[in-house]
Amino acid sequence: MIDMHTHTWYSDGTLSPTQLVKMAKEKGIETLAITDHDGTFGLAEGEAAARELGIHFINGLEFSVELPVDEVGAMVYTHILGYGIDPSNGRLHEKILGIREQRKARNHKMLAALHELGYSLSKEEMQLYPGQDYIGKPNFARALVAAGYAEDVSEAFCSERMMASPLIKSIHRDKINGAEAIDLIKGAGGYAALAHPYQISYRGKWEDDPQVFFKKLTQTIEALVNLGLSGMECCYSSHSRKQESALLTLADKYRLTVTAGSDYHGPGMKKNVELGGVHGS
Ligand code: AMP
Ligand code: ZN
Ligand code: FE
Ligand code: FE
Repeated sequence: MIDMHTHTWYSDGTLSPTQLVKMAKEKGIETLAITDHDGTFGLAEGEAAARELGIHFINGLEFSVELPVDEVGAMVYTHILGYGIDPSNGRLHEKILGIREQRKARNHKMLAALHELGYSLSKEEMQLYPGQDYIGKPNFARALVAAGYAEDVSEAFCSERMMASPLIKSIHRDKINGAEAIDLIKGAGGYAALAHPYQISYRGKWEDDPQVFFKKLTQTIEALVNLGLSGMECCYSSHSRKQESALLTLADKYRLTVTAGSDYHGPGMKKNVELGGVHGS
């Protein structure tokens, strides 16, 4: 049993690293990676808890990136996982701090936008513990539920009156370049893997192309491989068997290490996602 894609409250998950590792132990997970967004702050605690419970622990993180795919004139948006990174690497640490600062500016805009939509939330209502400095959309969704505006997190996410409103969707956040993300991960002694490949999105010439999604995905993988990608998350909580086997074939073709992850964010945060649930239906 393995889960190489999980989030804690050091990004937008709801469990502490210790709680997550304990849950992993209860589920019989033998190898666990914590892959918080734009941060390594939960790794030391996770590693200590894992050592105590006899779980093999992998340092990880997840970057949201943009990647120009030049041959087709498209900009691809995707997520890159980093494994085996050294959290004390100076360049990685500096970059993470910068990204987290930008996120704070975006959160101010989202709070104001929600206020405009009729939802009054405070920064404190978004935090799981005093001083929590990483707040993402799932934290907003949780706060909307806690304040009684939505039944559950997925309603808050999907409602066009809440997180799916055009106003909220228009508030973007800067993404780092894919080449830079892979370079940072490798520079910190780690390996880069493409997260949930079926979730890539894009804008540019591709849009008026009659090509199918899988071709675009293949071109994206090729571009990432040229930048030093080492692995791919073929097994993922929402992949169908067909998607999983298509990705396994691509991983084989491009000599990529196969990884497996659930993207667990804590109880009730994502529908049909459980810790250790790395295969979809
Ligand atoms: P942000 O980084 O603040 O833009 O938020 C993106 C995060 O929201 C990612 O971790 C996604 O996994 C999460 N997310 C996006 N859509 C949903 C959804 N429908 N339900 C739960 N989480 C979601
Ligand atoms: Zn997340
Ligand atoms: Fe992701
Ligand atoms: Fe994730």
